[in-house]
Amino acid sequence: MPAIAVQTHQLTRKFGHLVAVDRLDLAVPAGEIFGFLGPNGSGKSTTIRMLCGLLTPTAGSAAVDGHDVQKASDAARRSIGYMGQRFGLYEDLTVQENIAFYGALYGMKDPARVREVMQQVGIAQKADTRAGHLSGGWKQRLALASAIAHSPPVLFLDEPTAGIDPVARRELWDLLFDLARGGTTLFVTTHYMDEAEHCSSLGYIFQGRLLLAGGPDDLKQARQAADAGNR
Ligand code: ADP
Ligand code: MG
Repeated sequence: MPAIAVQTHQLTRKFGHLVAVDRLDLAVPAGEIFGFLGPNGSGKSTTIRMLCGLLTPTAGSAAVDGHDVQKASDAARRSIGYMGQRFGLYEDLTVQENIAFYGALYGMKDPARVREVMQQVGIAQKADTRAGHLSGGWKQRLALASAIAHSPPVLFLDEPTAGIDPVARRELWDLLFDLARGGTTLFVTTHYMDEAEHCSSLGYIFQGRLLLAGGPDDLKQARQAADAGNR
């Protein structure tokens, strides 16, 4: 895998007159847990959707795992796992059927991966439960399992911990740490500022603009400076 897992150059998306993402320059080294922080409406999901080939940029470019998301979209897609804000699980399919379905869609080669991935995310005991009968935390696990069945080197997670209880949040982060230890690059959005400390590098986006990039300590210092300025 290339040293830079996710790279954007002046990546821009407009919706009419609204500039949702404004000339974004990012470089996320392979193996990082990159936290993409910012309040609601700041452009996080729009950025991820462009990186995952779900939305066409208005200007600029982006590459994932070395593949230009527009010019080499098929190769880019195979390198990507995506867990969206509203993960389209099939409520009538069981846990293992959902994983098999999404895995096949994104190029999972070995059917034995379904069981493997269920064990990896700790959902094997729910294999035959229909997705519609799972609680929020379990649904999140299933969405994660479905997103990684084809073993993508880069995984995008859009607010994976939004709306789940603190225990489920903690457990989900533990799974993400496991994945990162296994070499997967993680690109995670969150509006929970306390989750910044789980990340090895961070970007802070506001009104479409990247205001800050660095490590968790850089962000802490910037916030302290901002708080001091507001007093
Ligand atoms: P975030 O994920 O950080 O909450 P989004 O990327 O969803 O932010 O949205 C950024 C801005 O773009 C918001 O003002 C939002 O209303 C707008 N936006 C997002 N998607 C669309 C769309 N399909 N059409 C029009 N405006 C959109
Ligand atoms: Mg969003």
